Amino acid sequence: MARRASRKKALKRLPTWAIVLAVILLIVIIGGYYYYENYYKKETFIQPTGELSFHFMTLGNNYNGDSIYVKAGDVDILIDAGSREGSVTTIQSYINQYCTDNTLEYVIVTHADRDHIAGFAATESIFDLYECETIIDFALTDKETATYDRYIENRDEEVANGAVHYTALECWNEENGAKKSYQLTDSITMNILYNYYYEHKSNDENNYSVCVQFEHGSKKFLLTGDLEEDGEEYLVQYNDLSEVELYKAGHHGSKTSSNEVLLEKIKPKIVCTTCVAGSVEFVSKPPQNLSNTFPTQAFIDRVSQYTDKVYVTSTINIKFDEEQNKYVNDGDAFDLNGNIIVSAGEDCVTVSCSNNNTLLKDTEWFNENRTAPAA
Ligand SMILES: [Zn+2]
Repeated sequence: MARRASRKKALKRLPTWAIVLAVILLIVIIGGYYYYENYYKKETFIQPTGELSFHFMTLGNNYNGDSIYVKAGDVDILIDAGSREGSVTTIQSYINQYCTDNTLEYVIVTHADRDHIAGFAATESIFDLYECETIIDFALTDKETATYDRYIENRDEEVANGAVHYTALECWNEENGAKKSYQLTDSITMNILYNYYYEHKSNDENNYSVCVQFEHGSKKFLLTGDLEEDGEEYLVQYNDLSEVELYKAGHHGSKTSSNEVLLEKIKPKIVCTTCVAGSVEFVSKPPQNLSNTFPTQAFIDRVSQYTDKVYVTSTINIKFDEEQNKYVNDGDAFDLNGNIIVSAGEDCVTVSCSNNNTLLKDTEWFNENRTAPAA
């Protein structure tokens, strides 16, 4: 009793301004939550128009990287989880709009570079947040990084908890229960392609990338991770490739990927590029060739022979730093197209993006930093 009385007294002693402040705070918190639920969340949600959809996500930071969510009927698939540990929350809040049972039927991890595995290697990783049923990853790697070690640890823990794990080579060879082709719905299959570097050493980690092609009826959708030129040559040699509706720009639109040998086979109609356009992340050492920032001029020159439907997730401003005598990134990355969603129904494929649907060639970034190749 005595304690309750003293609490009442303490309340009475609270100055009016403190009570007003508390009420204002409460209004801001409730209002903020209401805005998030009703406006912000809805703005990023785009309803796919077809049974098969590909979602090229922005990753919530300044780093290039891949994380692609694929929905085929009720089947949820995640391909890579870059670019840094912090991307996990960005990826989670994005895919939870579409994946409602916390289960990823398939997880594909293309190769062991950080910008593809960081979210699997995080302290609270994708493996902790979702029940991952089948994990398909690279057969070879030369990585000896802490990130890679944590990836293996987390993956093996998921396997101990009931997940099934195959390498892409096991899939190709159909060993230990693995399959080359997974039937996702009546009309959609996920096919693991043969990459020569599943079983041969490369001096470039990118070449170990798991390559996967989805097929919906007669339509094809190709994702090659960060596969490089010699990998692409073998890919063409060993697989019966033909025209695709969608091609994920290899290696974020690098000049060393998306070579003519591949493009002339697949003649892509839509190209999605997961990168922070213009970021000097990989050209940080002088002399900086800014035409080699992603998406590179060489990549643009080659793909534009086939399509102008090129989309890019995000971009960043750069500035010249007098002290360091070089260009540096300036501020935070922001959306170019934003999250890119490619939806495929029985007879049509559409693209809609969370920020805008502007083609790369029509963006301000392109006008300032790239040139259209002569027709
Ligand atoms: Zn990469």
